[in-house]
Formats: sequence, structure tokens, C-alpha cells
Amino acid sequence: MKATVMYGAGDVRVENVPDARIVESTDALLRVTRACVCGSDLWPYNQMEHTDLGRRMGHEFIGVVEEIGADVRTVKPGDVVVAPFAWSDGTCVFCQEGLQTSCLHGGFWGGTDLDGGQGEAVRVPLADGTLVVLPVGEDDALMPSLLTLSDVMGTGHHAARAARVAPGKTVAVVGDGAVGLCGVIAAKRLGAGQIILLGRHPDRIALGRDFGATDIVSERGGAAIERVRELTYGLGAHSVLECVGHTLSMETALGIVRAGGAVGRVGVPQHEQIPTTTQTFYDNVTISGGPAPARAYIEELLPDVLEGRIEPGRVLDRTGSLDDVPEGYRLMNERESIKFLIEV
Ligand SMILES: [Zn+2]
Repeated sequence: MKATVMYGAGDVRVENVPDARIVESTDALLRVTRACVCGSDLWPYNQMEHTDLGRRMGHEFIGVVEEIGADVRTVKPGDVVVAPFAWSDGTCVFCQEGLQTSCLHGGFWGGTDLDGGQGEAVRVPLADGTLVVLPVGEDDALMPSLLTLSDVMGTGHHAARAARVAPGKTVAVVGDGAVGLCGVIAAKRLGAGQIILLGRHPDRIALGRDFGATDIVSERGGAAIERVRELTYGLGAHSVLECVGHTLSMETALGIVRAGGAVGRVGVPQHEQIPTTTQTFYDNVTISGGPAPARAYIEELLPDVLEGRIEPGRVLDRTGSLDDVPEGYRLMNERESIKFLIEV
């Protein structure tokens, strides 16, 4: 089968790999129908050291179940299913608490010993805990939005939850990538009053406004902090969604949060320390967040997608085939695309 393999920074290839197959009795074999490239795939795309082994890529995908192991109960061949970006058993103590990213028996797609989603097929471990059946056909028009439930929409929602977004509150979203834009959707969905989007790309800002952003701040650093303070009577935002992960974006997030407010961070941190610890201590600021338990949020968000109340699939602004994946990485890396949809 064909799949995406990364060998080092800037070196991503679509090539023939061993066919995915059932190994454990709890596995399902999935024929992938849609997948996408994630902003987090760009970290290795820019920084990964060369490896001869290669690393299988992709953690956002939808597919059709082809075959199941003897112990699989909740999915059957022919089902259209979405997989969250982490696989999990659905039964351990953390899964029962809705924190499937910390599953005692789970893990993440791709790498050197598991299939990734950017390929023709995937062996899904712990299929009962991991997969969610979608009540649609494999080519349904809602596919782009359904696909965002595997990661970016769940991650934006997690940022909003971690930042304690609530009706009527002032929210600031740091970052205008796919996750930040989904954070705007999530904030609006949870009833936020004012939604300030910090970003500087015209296409993304336009989409952010459509999703519910009421104010745009395109300055950076200290100027951005000042501008948000101006927009919030000098007080700052109740809830700040940090959707980038850079030191500067975290400093901005902590600089615009109101005393007693919360920062929900979902950008994979590229720094070892959280900045401005003294000020946030005296301001009683809550800093929360981490990898989103996307699996926990699928059931909550799915009805809103199916009934058209939210359209997170609009962040997928470019589409190509599996062979176009290297071009998809390039487009996203050059900021010519917000997010690249792969029709497998
Ligand atoms: Zn678990």
C-alpha cells in the first residue's frame, strides 16, 4: 500500500510500505478515505533529523472498516468511522475520566512501528475504544467537518474548556491556524460574548470573523498585549486560548489574561518553561491545557456538525490526492494553505 513517510526536515515522501493488517484480536483494519496534514506535522517537517528508517505520518483520518479482530464488538466491516489522534482502550481509569490521551494502554499514530493516517490503510489498535461510527456515507458532503473531529476541532474545544469559556465572557484566541480558528468556533459555541482573534493572515482572519470573532488584533508581542487591553477596558480577557506553542505566543497569552482568568494551552510547547510566573501568580491566573482528549469530545461535537450548526471543515482550504501530500506539506509550511485535505 501507499503511505506517507518522513525521512527528515523537508523530506516527506509517498511510497510503498507493507500492507496494514490485523495483528491483535482487538484490532480493526481501516481503508482510509480522508485524511489531512496537521500543523503539528510541520514541526518535524522543519526540524527532524535525517533517519534512514523514516517515520510514518498522519494522525487525522476517516475510513471504512475492512476487517475486524475476533474481540472487536463496536465496529463492523463497512462502518464509516473517525479515529481521534490518539488511540485508547476506552476502559482504563483515565479513559473513564475522559482523558483518553493518557490511556494506560493507548498511544499515538505513526512513528516507526505503527501506521499513520496519511496512507491507504491503517491498522487500528484497540478499535472498540478508539473508533467512533459516523452515521453517513463515505463520500458525504460533511466529510471535511467530520474529519476535524479527529483533532483540530476537538483541540480548539479543549482550549476553550481549559480556558473556562462561559456565556457572556471575553475570550482571546492566540493563533489563526486551523486550531485557533476552531477555538473561535468553540468559544462562540460555548456562548462567549466578545471573541478577540490574534492573527495576521487575511484569509484566516476572514474565516475567523465568519466563525464568530468580534475583534481582530494583528499586532505582535507588547503591541498586541496593549491592543487587547484597550479592547477589554484595560482588564484583559477572562479566557485565553493559546493555539501556537511558541514562547512569544505564550507570553502574549499570559499578558492578555485578566486577573482570575484562565489560559488554555493546546499549542505543543516549543519552550521548557512557562514565562511570567510571578505576574500570573499575583493575578491568580489558571494555566491549563495539553493534548486534547479528542475521543471524549466526538460525541459532544458530532451532533453540531451533523446538523450544520458548526462548520469547522472550512479550515480545510486545499485538497489533493495521496500523491499530492508532499505538496500539501509545502503549501501549509509556506502559509499558502491553512490545512490540507487528502482524498485518498
Ligand atoms: Zn484507557
